[in-house]
This record gives sequence, structure tokens and C-alpha cells, in this order.
Amino acid sequence: MHIKLKFICMIICVSLLASCQQQRLEPVALAPEDMCSFCRMAISEKRYAAQLSDSEGQVFKFDDIGCMANFMQRNDIDGKSVARFVMDFDERIWIKAEDAYYVESSEVTTPMNGGVIAFTTQPKAQQAAEKFHGKIQRFGEVFQ
Ligand SMILES: [Zn+2]
Repeated sequence: MHIKLKFICMIICVSLLASCQQQRLEPVALAPEDMCSFCRMAISEKRYAAQLSDSEGQVFKFDDIGCMANFMQRNDIDGKSVARFVMDFDERIWIKAEDAYYVESSEVTTPMNGGVIAFTTQPKAQQAAEKFHGKIQRFGEVFQ
């Protein structure tokens, strides 16, 4: 009987932990007063935004995908960051940074001149790459 109780408690604990973690992996909505965690500028244009959550539940928001790349490099945050999202340039919805298709072009003017925009699908990224004479990149190339 006692062991059974312990077992039930364990199941409850594990599922609580799991739901907690899942919540943390959801992107956070941008607020008008949000500032970029890297360059401290206001995040005025949503379509270039990015965000990152660390293992302590802290969320860092960025006005430019390039700012998140710089932030990750400078802070050596790889082991601590648990979720990364970028904004879809067209639809202005958060997408997982690992799943996004990026277009890098000097003809794209992003807030901090990172020159990188993100898309949910490859065809959309392809269109943008042709329009801006840029090249398509994946997560590993943008966030090395
Ligand atoms: Zn910035």
C-alpha cells in the first residue's frame, strides 16, 4: 500500500514537472515596452523579432535576429537556453528557431542591420531570397 502511494506521488510529480517545462517552451507575446536584450533598443518592428528562454525561465527578447545570434555567441548560452523562437516575416507569428528558414541579404534592412529574416516554410523563404537576392540559411548557419 505504502509503495503504491509513493508510486502515485511520483507519477503526479513527473507530470507536474512535464507540464511546467512545456509552458516554458511556449513563446512569450511581445509587449509595447519590450527592449532588445542585446542592443537595448525598443522592439518596434515585430517581423524582425526573436526570443530565447533559458533553463531558469528567464526570457530574452530581441529586435533583430542578428541580435539574438550575437547574444548567444557573447553569453555562451548554449547549454542554458532551452527554447528559441523567431518571428515569421510575413505572418508575424512565432516559429521555433530550429525549424525556420532564414534569408540573409544585404538588401533586407533589419533594425540592427543583421540582414536576416525568418519564414515558416521553404517556398516562402525561396520567394524572399529571389526578391532580395539573398541566400537561404538554416539554424546552424545563422546561430553558429
Ligand atoms: Zn537588438
